[in-house]
Amino acid sequence: MTYVIAQPCTDVKDKACIEECPVDCIYEGQRALYVHPDECVDCGACEPVCPVEAIFYEDDVPEQWAAYRAVNVEFFDELGSPGGAAQLGLIGRDHPTVAEQPVPAA
Ligand code: SF4
Ligand code: SF4
Repeated sequence: MTYVIAQPCTDVKDKACIEECPVDCIYEGQRALYVHPDECVDCGACEPVCPVEAIFYEDDVPEQWAAYRAVNVEFFDELGSPGGAAQLGLIGRDHPTVAEQPVPAA
């Protein structure tokens, strides 16, 4: 079990959650952040600080964002388990589900 970042993070990315994570398992993509499913220790510290309520316990992801369980897993298919987000910094891509989100008007 793990925590999941869902659609509301897209294009917000204020990174408040990163500050709270004790194991540095929240990784930054181009338009959204992603929780590493194996590195997350389920502490729940990130969930209350998100200003747009994008973070959910895996079992509590709202139905309309159910796909984001797989989004957070599949984002790491190429990365494996880096063991810490800070060393990677910005990862200049997104999962296709995030990349396909309409870009908000400037
Ligand atoms: S706190 Fe919420 S909106 Fe901010 S980066 Fe984290 S998941 Fe995204
Ligand atoms: S639940 Fe804890 S370990 Fe998992 S991403 Fe949030 S702050 Fe990090």
